[in-house]
Amino acid sequence: MTEPTSTRFNDIVVDQPTKAGLEQRHAAVHALLDRHDRKAALAAWDTLRREFDTWSALVDLRFAQNTTDAAAKAARDYADALTPEATELDVAIKRRVLADPARDEIAALAGAHALRLWEADITTFEPAIKADLEAESRLAARYTELLASAQLEIDGVTVNLAGLDPFAQDPDRATRHRAEQTRWAFFASHGPELDDLYDRLVRLRHGMARKLGYPIYTDLAYRRLHRVDYGPQDVARYRDQIVALVVPLVARLLEQRRLANGWDRLRYWDEALIDPAGNPVPAGGYDFLVARAQTMFDRMDSRLGSFYRLMNEGGFLDLRNRPGKAGGGFCTSFPSFGVPFIFANFNGTHHDIGVFTHEMGHAFQNWESRALPGVDYLWPTMEAAEIHSMGLEFLSYPQMELMVGNAAAERFRRMHLIAALAFLPYGACVDHFQHEVYAAPDATPAERHGMWQRLERIYMPWTDYGDLAYPAKGGRWQAKHHIYASPFYYIDYTLAQCCAMQFWVRSRQDYRAALDSYVSLCARGGSMPFQALVRSAGLVSPFADGALAEVVKEARAVLGV
Ligand code: ZN
Repeated sequence: MTEPTSTRFNDIVVDQPTKAGLEQRHAAVHALLDRHDRKAALAAWDTLRREFDTWSALVDLRFAQNTTDAAAKAARDYADALTPEATELDVAIKRRVLADPARDEIAALAGAHALRLWEADITTFEPAIKADLEAESRLAARYTELLASAQLEIDGVTVNLAGLDPFAQDPDRATRHRAEQTRWAFFASHGPELDDLYDRLVRLRHGMARKLGYPIYTDLAYRRLHRVDYGPQDVARYRDQIVALVVPLVARLLEQRRLANGWDRLRYWDEALIDPAGNPVPAGGYDFLVARAQTMFDRMDSRLGSFYRLMNEGGFLDLRNRPGKAGGGFCTSFPSFGVPFIFANFNGTHHDIGVFTHEMGHAFQNWESRALPGVDYLWPTMEAAEIHSMGLEFLSYPQMELMVGNAAAERFRRMHLIAALAFLPYGACVDHFQHEVYAAPDATPAERHGMWQRLERIYMPWTDYGDLAYPAKGGRWQAKHHIYASPFYYIDYTLAQCCAMQFWVRSRQDYRAALDSYVSLCARGGSMPFQALVRSAGLVSPFADGALAEVVKEARAVLGV
């Protein structure tokens, strides 16, 4: 790995790989294995994978930065076609290494957990699904493109879906209502295409599962997500804990809000206004926040401070919203170079603060894990990765005066805590929906809307869409990117939230100890499966009884509910 202290984003240039080139380099790894030079073979293979991942991350990033750029789109199409070829070559090496009688030597070189990950990988791929994987990427990209194409008129300005958020959180109730009318009119007008895209994705994924010998896609998805230490039953019990403990608390909070505002009913468009005085917003714009974040991280921990400086000065942040840019925010990494990258869309709301506190958590973990033995450990599985991001959101609470000003800081913390709690039922609903969808792959689009409606009444019984016809008929899930592009991923945020809130509880008892434990967890990266990582930080696994009880108790006390 290049020592990255002087790396700038613009210096990251990677040659576009070809199928023939990849074949040649894999053949060289096989030749080393033929000679039983396992150390050299694993090292050469790791370098090759890092370079491919770096190229692939760059291609995805360039497309997200400008979805209307024909060259970026062509590169992405090329990558979509080449990736299954690379996976096939990669899986062949994994199969061979796993069959090697010198397993202890391999485990000593690569790490024991890497072998478990590769075992999952070899059961999720066969050449027979190569074309399906490519088709899946294309359909998911079409969904991204469709949502990025939104040109919405509201109050005399044109915005994309992310640009609608400030209106959706406006203290003025009629403005919030208008924002949601605008949002859902867009989804209603694209309803048939959204239904069709999802229908094709579900059938395609089910077909891949069948080709690989799984009864339904869910089993394949869990393996694709490297969930090696828990299964759908554990997740179902966790969702039940949310229904039992969190749904009543959120219902109480929303009822308090209704009374505080003197509304006869709490409508869907009132849910985003968490603070009756208006959700606290950043105390300044882009330049202000980028500078204040430096002070914040310097005060929290010198390791965080120097890392943020490196990213900012190296050009590894793309945070401004602009036309054609894909929505959302994410952190990606270039394993050959070491420094990760943060992509976001500032919109003037508290989400902009989350870019620093959430995406920076991902980036910092990736950076802290850079010395671990192989590329497999650079990121943990995603439910563990979100502990780093959501954990940092809570650990940065004491610094919020810097971001929103002294007067609004306490209100910000309260808003963030309420939002974290209110997210859990929604996240569980998104997850439960997908379990039902893939258990019944022949369901019609109308039946899927019905599934969502039924689950929504369990997880979010307070939901009142008023005159918003499209979500009222079960269409809300279509705004959730993960349902299309990252099946079964969503519960990971709720699992991580449960762990991040445990960091919050601990930070209220001993801040320094909680932060040090957090940094150590970041440095362990993906070297263990989820529950082992959680326990290594002294946290309670979300699948254990009582994991949510403690945080809910603390939250009730702090929020006075
Ligand atoms: Zn995240």
